[in-house]
Amino acid sequence: MKVHNFNAGPSVLPNEVLYKASKALIDFEGSGMSILEIGHRTPLFQAVMDEARNLVRELMQLEDDFEVLYLHGGATQQFLQVPMNLLENDGTASYIDTGVWSNKAIKEAKQFGFVDVAGSSKESNYNYIPKQFNVSPKSTYLHITTNNTIYGTQWQQLPEVDVPLVGDMSSDILSRQMDFNKFSLIYAGVQKNMGAAGVTMVAVRKSILGKVTRKIPTILDYRNHVENGSMLNTPPVFSIYISMLTLRWLRDQGGAAAMEKLNEKKAALLYDEIDQNPLFRGTVAKEDRSRMNVCFIMDKPELEDEFLKFTKKEDIVGIKGHRSVGGFRASLYNALPYESVEVLVEAMKYFSLKKA
Ligand SMILES: *Cc1c(COP(=O)(O)O)cnc(C)c1O
Repeated sequence: MKVHNFNAGPSVLPNEVLYKASKALIDFEGSGMSILEIGHRTPLFQAVMDEARNLVRELMQLEDDFEVLYLHGGATQQFLQVPMNLLENDGTASYIDTGVWSNKAIKEAKQFGFVDVAGSSKESNYNYIPKQFNVSPKSTYLHITTNNTIYGTQWQQLPEVDVPLVGDMSSDILSRQMDFNKFSLIYAGVQKNMGAAGVTMVAVRKSILGKVTRKIPTILDYRNHVENGSMLNTPPVFSIYISMLTLRWLRDQGGAAAMEKLNEKKAALLYDEIDQNPLFRGTVAKEDRSRMNVCFIMDKPELEDEFLKFTKKEDIVGIKGHRSVGGFRASLYNALPYESVEVLVEAMKYFSLKKA
C-alpha cells in the first residue's frame, strides 16, 4: 500500500507511471535491454525524446516559435543560464522577489548584468504576491516565480508587461490552465509536477536567443541545445522517460484543464478546513494562496509535534513545513489523489475534536 505523499519535491508520481517504468527497467519495449542500457542515439530513445518534447508543446499549446528542451542542472542552473543567454553586461533585467527561489535567481543574474528588483514581499516574510510594480520598458525581461513552493503563494494573474516574460514554473507547471504563450522563456525542474528528479524542462522562444555579445560556453548556450535536438551530450535518459510517461498520464487525464479542476478541488477542501478548524491557521494572503503548496500553522505551536505524530499513524507523509516558515506544508501536486487530501482533513478534524 502507498502512503499519502505530500512531499514538496521530489514528490508523488502516478501509479501507472511507476508501474510502466518498473517494467522498462527490466526490458524496454521488448528490446531485451533495460531503459538504462540503451544508447541515447538509438531510435528507441529518440522516440521517447520526441514524444516528451511534443507532449510539452501540445499540453502547453505552445506557439511554433518555442523550442522545448530537456536539460541537466536543475532549475538552479537556469537561474544563471537565463541571464547568461539573454542579458547584456550593461543591460538590466527586472525580477519580482517572492522568496527563496526568486532570490537565488536574482543573485545569479547579478553576475551577468544589472538587476532591478521591481517588487518584493520580503518585509512580510513573503506572505503575498506584490501587485504594484513598475517594469521599465528598457528592461531585457521580467522574471517571476509563478508558484512559491516554500511560502505557499502563487501568481493568480500574470503581470501585464511590455518586456519578455520569464517564468520559473518548477512547482506549478501544467497544474492549471494558463496562456503559456505570454512567456518568452519558461523553465521547470520536472520533479514536482512533470516527472522525477534529474532533468529540467526549458521552453524558449527562438526569437529571443542570440542577442547577447558575450561568449557563452557551448553547453550553456541554448542555441546549441536547440540545434542538437536537446541531445548535445548524453541526456538523462531515465528521467526523460519518466517525464514522458507522466506527461502521457497528464494528457490522458484531460491535460491542464482537468488538472486545474482537480487541483482547485483539492486545495479548496484543505483551505476550508484550515479556515474553520480552530486549531489551524493559514499563513499567506487568501487571494494569493497556492493550490500546489498549502502552508499552515497551529495557534498552539506546542501541539505541532503531537499532530505530526498523529498524522504519521494515518500514513500521511511529508507535511512538515519548510524551516523558514515552520508549521506545516502540504504539497498537492497533480499526481496527489483527492483521497489523500480527504485523509489529511479527517485527521485535522479528529485531532481538533480530541483537543476540544
Ligand atoms: C524546487 C524548486 C527549484 C529548484 O529546483 P532544482 O531542480 O532543485 O534546481 C527552483 N524553483 C522553484 C520554484 C522550485 O520549487
